[in-house]
Amino acid sequence: KHTDPGQKEFHQAVTEVLETLEPTAEKHPEFVKAGIYERIVEPERAILFRVPWVDDRGEVHVNRGFRVQFNNAIGPFKGGIRFHPSVNLSIIKFLGFEQVFKNSLTTLPMGGGKGGSDFDPKGKTDNEIMRFCQAFMRELSRHIGPETDVPAGDIGVGAREIGFLYGYYKKLRNEHTGVLTGKALEYGGSLIRPEATGYGTVYFAAEMLATRGLDFKDKTVAVSGSGNVAQFAIEKVNEMGGRIVSVSDSAGTVIDEKGIDNDKTCYLMELKNVHRGRVSEYADKYKTVCFEGKSVWDVIREQDIKVDIALPCATQNEIEAQNAQALIKNGCMCVAEGANMPSTPEAVKVYQDNGILYGPGKAANAGGVATSGLEMSQNSLKLSWSREEVDRRLQTIMKDIHQSCLDAAEAYGKKGNYVMGANIAGFVKVARAMLAYGVV
Ligand code: NDP
Repeated sequence: KHTDPGQKEFHQAVTEVLETLEPTAEKHPEFVKAGIYERIVEPERAILFRVPWVDDRGEVHVNRGFRVQFNNAIGPFKGGIRFHPSVNLSIIKFLGFEQVFKNSLTTLPMGGGKGGSDFDPKGKTDNEIMRFCQAFMRELSRHIGPETDVPAGDIGVGAREIGFLYGYYKKLRNEHTGVLTGKALEYGGSLIRPEATGYGTVYFAAEMLATRGLDFKDKTVAVSGSGNVAQFAIEKVNEMGGRIVSVSDSAGTVIDEKGIDNDKTCYLMELKNVHRGRVSEYADKYKTVCFEGKSVWDVIREQDIKVDIALPCATQNEIEAQNAQALIKNGCMCVAEGANMPSTPEAVKVYQDNGILYGPGKAANAGGVATSGLEMSQNSLKLSWSREEVDRRLQTIMKDIHQSCLDAAEAYGKKGNYVMGANIAGFVKVARAMLAYGVV
């Protein structure tokens, strides 16, 4: 009803979700009567703020800060912080909206939110990153808290940034508490949190493959991105016997037909996390090709590269219809989204029309926030669980999410449709809680 001009990504996400929720309106007239559908698309509040900071040369810069607290019907607002020059209110609202359903799917008590800034971390020194994070937290700190809103990392916000953000929150509030997740182990982080989104995406894909009697063994797998999610998806695919043939960053795509094995993955992690280098340096080292300025999906289409499984792990709308068609032409039978909304609606239609296995981001990449939920539990208990314990819980959660997608899809007459299943299963729990509260 209320459309804000220019909020393209937000409208895309809302349209995609509402279209799939039609069967819930038929089955639950009480949701319609209580205005749940109108209320769920409006954030509880959206905070916009100025972030002034000073670079190493003494020059003043001003960036925009955002925190969209979307829905806290089932738990405190929860969702990552993104630092990327493309960040705007539409992107943060789309991510916050998706997060509501994703967090509900995890079965843990977390509401949905998202935040970020149009700050570009590329080319900045550690001191500049620190000063920016402190300036960002100076305002954000008044809106968050362990029982109110618990941010985490996302694109451009990794362990280094979480350290600076948490250190400054602690200083301002004089309290050591579970207000952020993705913390390092020494100050309240959880084992497996860095790995969780990538591992979880692969666990989810494995569950989907199993419904057709298939697995990762000897499969050719295309991954996009080379950040947090991509790195650990690659690690897990290797462990499960698959062969990874691609990685990318915002400057280009590397194809390595011999496979990105464990040694090469270690090099990639060091290159991206320590030296903050480009994937083209990987191509130089291993004498493979780098296609400058191209996405993985463009390269697969243009070079006719055969792939069995695709794991998009970079950013939104990276796969368009023609590249989805090329994936299928080249043998792809399964797409599991490590990134949020990496496939355009037209690409999703191509997957569905061709009957391939398709795990949408809000289900397939929910392992990250689920493990953040486990980090919150450990912080509340003031305990740390072992690596095995957290990984076991992550695997169980991904299996359960997969099953609840299938169950919800079947219960609402759309058997095997993971998009319908994820949206409906995530929605119904939040809607029931909102119904219980009355109109607030
Ligand atoms: P990182 O910043 O660690 O990595 C992002 C990767 O994607 C980098 O390789 C980056 O390239 C590339 N990339 C980013 N934007 C673009 C763009 N516009 N065009 C081409 N390449 C791009 O982020 P994450 O790995 O954490 O996040 C990746 C995706 O996964 C996002 O959609 C995020 O929302 C989603 N996600 C992340 C979770 C997490 O736990 N981290 C949880 C759930 C979802 P470059 O190196 O050049 O910057």
